[in-house]
Amino acid sequence: MARVVALIPAAGYGRRMSSQKPKAFLPLGGIPLLTRTLQKFELCAQVDEILPLVPEGKVSICEEEIVRRSGLRKVRRILAGGPERQDSVYLGLKAIEGKADFVIIHDGARPFVSRELIELALSKSKCWKAVVAAIPAGDTIKEVSLDGEILRTVDRRHLWIIQTPQSFEYGLIARAHEKAKEEGFYGTDDASLVERLGVPVRVIEGSRFNLKITTPEDLILGEALLKYLK
Ligand code: C5P
Repeated sequence: MARVVALIPAAGYGRRMSSQKPKAFLPLGGIPLLTRTLQKFELCAQVDEILPLVPEGKVSICEEEIVRRSGLRKVRRILAGGPERQDSVYLGLKAIEGKADFVIIHDGARPFVSRELIELALSKSKCWKAVVAAIPAGDTIKEVSLDGEILRTVDRRHLWIIQTPQSFEYGLIARAHEKAKEEGFYGTDDASLVERLGVPVRVIEGSRFNLKITTPEDLILGEALLKYLK
């Protein structure tokens, strides 16, 4: 049986949130955001272990207030993340070296991910090696110069908005991160590091509900979504 580890980068301080607490610990419907995200992976039978990465100095509070309080049995270790999201994922990959066949990487800040989407990403990565959740761009997207002039309108039939989960063969994503590290390359997601190896990455249909909570407005949307999904 393939061994699956879920890496959950949640080590951002949430500066755009203008709150004292790191974003992962902010309440959504009275429960920390990160608890909600981790519970989705806990309930997914294909996931063997969950490895969250939290801000430096927040490991023990995460253990007490999130993992123990919610009885998350698949979380056996919690690690401190790095300065950028990519550094956090790299540290997580290093920590599971030799212990995983597949790695599913998901932002701690996306608590509305569904179990179906996690399962779809995992099953598809078993044949395609690298898959990412995404939604087709619904709006017109234009390239604009720094001083505000429109340079061109991009054909949106080819544009997808990328989300997490992103699921990979362990060896592939480890190699992609290692190469990026050696070359000092930083991408905005993990798939972009695999693309640089020349290995194809496929999209699977994500969900508009799979919000990333980034700003105070997103928390308002998140609270509304919670009521709707109940
Ligand atoms: O900053 P952004 O919202 O894109 O972050 C996406 C995810 O990456 C969040 O869950 C955040 O906590 C995490 N992150 C991290 N380590 C960092 C910065 C962000 O794990 N240094």
